[in-house]
Amino acid sequence: MAYQYQYRGQDQSFLMNVFRRVDTDNSGIISDNELQQALSNGTWTPFNPVTVRSIISMFDRDYKGGVNFAEFTGVWKYITDWQNIFRTYDRDNSGLIDKNELKQALSGFGYRLTDQFYDILIRKFDRQRRGQVAFDDFIQCCIVLQKFTDVFRRQDTDQDGWINVSYEQYLHMVFGVI
Ligand code: MG
Ligand code: MG
Ligand code: MG
Repeated sequence: MAYQYQYRGQDQSFLMNVFRRVDTDNSGIISDNELQQALSNGTWTPFNPVTVRSIISMFDRDYKGGVNFAEFTGVWKYITDWQNIFRTYDRDNSGLIDKNELKQALSGFGYRLTDQFYDILIRKFDRQRRGQVAFDDFIQCCIVLQKFTDVFRRQDTDQDGWINVSYEQYLHMVFGVI
């Protein structure tokens, strides 16, 4: 996913309007809370706050606890890209990704996981206890899986899917992700 995307022309003024609406305290910065409010509009359940934090921290390059307009264009692109991915894999248009849809999606991204592991993923990320994952939880699932995979890959220098690490190296790996 490209984080550096820049919008131009009419997209820019459209996005400026969105930015102003989401930045409810007019601070010029969209905070976690402001983004969460905006993303939760029209749904009954608040957008996963952990996903919101993950997204904001991806684009908040100068660590000010939120995103300015330039960074927001990246956030917008990131979320719309995920929406398109979600719609593509939500084959039955249920608004939720079930186990088979998740399999299709993650296999499409190149993951090779066992059937039992998909059960674990669903159980772990299904915040609403419906046996399926909603949009925000789907993003979170993919972010976390990607992070843990990256950490593993860095150690797996011969890329054979096996690593040999000490207890402390293991702790470094895990604490680097959570
Ligand atoms: Mg603000
Ligand atoms: Mg579905
Ligand atoms: Mg290896």
